Amino acid sequence: MQYVTLNNGVEMPILGFGVYQIPAEDTERAVSDALAAGYRLLDTAAAYGNEEAVGRAIRSSGIPRADLFVTTKLWVQDAPAEDNTRRAFGTSLDKLGLDHLDLYLMHQPFGDVYGQWRAMEALGREGLARAIGVANFYPDRLLDLIANNEITPAVNQIETHPFFQRADYQALMSEHGVRIQSWGGFAEGRNDLFTDPLLTGIGQAHGKSVAQVVLRWLVQRGVVAIPKSVRPERMAENIDVFGFELTDDQMTRIATLDTGDSLFFDHHDPEVVTWLAKRRLDA
Ligand code: NAP
Repeated sequence: MQYVTLNNGVEMPILGFGVYQIPAEDTERAVSDALAAGYRLLDTAAAYGNEEAVGRAIRSSGIPRADLFVTTKLWVQDAPAEDNTRRAFGTSLDKLGLDHLDLYLMHQPFGDVYGQWRAMEALGREGLARAIGVANFYPDRLLDLIANNEITPAVNQIETHPFFQRADYQALMSEHGVRIQSWGGFAEGRNDLFTDPLLTGIGQAHGKSVAQVVLRWLVQRGVVAIPKSVRPERMAENIDVFGFELTDDQMTRIATLDTGDSLFFDHHDPEVVTWLAKRRLDA
């Protein structure tokens, strides 16, 4: 496994396992399979409803805690967000059965963002979260957050895949010491990603699948990836991307697939903002 060093010195695997949309009843088995396949970075969220199952899989694996890199995410909080964020963090830790997190992310750039971030900074200073970061922050929100707070997010987890590549934004984040992490690295299969002719041709040249080409392309760009699969054979395929290298020409050709637009939702769209900013978790 390759690692990246975050802006506070913490080391993070460049490839991990995401559990979004895995039903709670299937998550323990999926995470156990992923750990057996060699994944050490796990990415969940309070909003996914499967933190307890992730925790059970961690405990039954017997893998030393120090060898794991566990991320979960804070959902949108009402003011006073300092109190609510600390409570939400405690709930996530309890559900996971852990005494600290490796990375705690603000899931959406909505709610009492500054109160949430100040509480997260405190959790970071206390060592309860080894690193803190954000998700779904577009440049306007990210730069404002950086300009007005002490701790710069270590990570921004954003939609990043061959059809929405974020290269310019990655360069901007890099200038500020923020590591890009891809969500939806396969675009969840949208735009017929897995049968895309260009990606298929590049895969054939290396004897690799489209999934492996996409993950190799992300890793080679320094983008942390967290592919999701419930199938052990795909988990094994998706982590097997360190034994080949895409050529400069192949990287350039993949760059032509970029549409510059989200395939999911734009966090500037008023309907999306209203939907996410008002959503609250039940528990
Ligand atoms: P994704 O990883 O882009 O795609 C997952 C889909 O690809 C599943 O349908 C999976 O099916 C399929 N797949 C996986 N490996 C494959 C392979 N080798 N060949 C063919 N198909 C394959 O989607 P995602 O789960 O949305 O994104 C990854 C992670 O990012 C999430 O799990 C979550 O942790 C994180 N995320 C974060 C946010 C955020 O707002 N911060 C948003 C979305 C996602 P099977 O399971 O049937 O194999």
